[in-house]
Amino acid sequence: MTVVGIDDTDSRERGMCTTYVARAIADRLREDDSVSVSRLLLVRLNPAVEYKTRGNASLAIHTDCDPDRAFDIARERLESLAETADERTNPGLVVADHEPDEDVPFDDMSRFAHAAVRDHLSIADATALIEHHGYRSWHAGNGRGRIGALAAVGAWTALGEWTDEYIAYREPERWGTPREVDRESVFAAAEWGYPDVWDTVDRGEDETVCVPHTPGPILYGIRGDETDAVRAVADRIESEPVAASQRFVTNQGTDVHLRDGAIGAVADGRAYRLEGRVASEPETRRGGHVFVDLESPAGGDADNDGAVGNESPNRLACAAFEPTKRFRDRVRALRVGDRLTACGEVSDGTLKLEKFAVRDLVRTERVTPVCPSCERTMESAGRNQGYRCRDCGTATGGKTDRSLERDLEPGWYEVPPCARRHVAKPLVRGGFDAPTHPEH
Ligand code: ATP
Repeated sequence: MTVVGIDDTDSRERGMCTTYVARAIADRLREDDSVSVSRLLLVRLNPAVEYKTRGNASLAIHTDCDPDRAFDIARERLESLAETADERTNPGLVVADHEPDEDVPFDDMSRFAHAAVRDHLSIADATALIEHHGYRSWHAGNGRGRIGALAAVGAWTALGEWTDEYIAYREPERWGTPREVDRESVFAAAEWGYPDVWDTVDRGEDETVCVPHTPGPILYGIRGDETDAVRAVADRIESEPVAASQRFVTNQGTDVHLRDGAIGAVADGRAYRLEGRVASEPETRRGGHVFVDLESPAGGDADNDGAVGNESPNRLACAAFEPTKRFRDRVRALRVGDRLTACGEVSDGTLKLEKFAVRDLVRTERVTPVCPSCERTMESAGRNQGYRCRDCGTATGGKTDRSLERDLEPGWYEVPPCARRHVAKPLVRGGFDAPTHPEH
């Protein structure tokens, strides 16, 4: 068995796409009747990595082709298709001649793939491991793409949860022109396929999320839990001619980028699942971004190693940025004292919220009492002396509890499909530890 890993082939301006290059390699491999390609993996790596063009995708092809021949074909395709004219494009190729799920003695490959999804790696980390295992490799530019290529090789062993994406590609002469996709057919197909097929459209924003806006070769990509379902949804979409299509097995929609963490012990460029208590009233700032502070539930004993520059190490600013649209209303509905689990990436010391679970809602607030006879708001009778009614003289010891109307319920809330990161798990997929309030 041979595993071909590739990464970093496209440019932001010129438009290519590593999935397209992987499909082109697979097509070449399949031209030989004796060769079969068992699957194409689309692996989303750490979304916080600064070098990414867009979605930090890396690709692996699992085939029974002879490794030397697979290497030659992949290298030729990369040299001809990768946008190497863009100095920010640094393609990498790694070819391994073992089973994709070989894990003993390849624990280090599994660890590397995990780290590529959740952490930051150096080119030297990749080259050391490539050398250690004697893998064939090639690169152009600074060769950064070997990080993703190697991670894609290790991904099948490292990651346990997989979903599907069916990508339809455009005819090359249409690249860069507006896409002709019938909106109504997309919405109808999305409705038909939901919930097995998700993030096809955003009903709230009236947006066809599956159709990209960038100049590349993709016409649309249909994501879901199951191969037949995504294929069937794609078949229901009416559009310009589809030049080619390909099924990818992916780690999209799995939340594999999240690690359990503690407020006060987070670092930039990583994504977390954090327990906390709302510590400030939500505030809408210029641009429509909504901010709220979270503090450690215990109020201050978290380990502070690696903490980013917050004013208070046990307090973390959380943000729902304008593109998260209606999700911001959920954040605005929070109140000081609510207990949450918050998920997202930490960047510049702020947690960019992807989803949160309400664990406990504050249901009452302390208010100045109302006189039981006159129904007028009472007044303070002086420091520590309770309240008194100015009209009838009725006195009471202190503030009273008033119940609060809340627009939130316990359970998980998420950003809408239009703002979803590729790797983030939509609530509709299930498996969460509390009731869910899915967006679609
Ligand atoms: P494309 O649409 O082409 O797949 P992209 O958004 O996936 O674009 P790339 O052009 O592949 O972005 O650039 C990402 C670069 O960052 C690659 O060179 C990859 O090897 C590298 N990279 C990926 N994950 C990590 C990581 N965890 N640490 C360091 N570098 C990484």
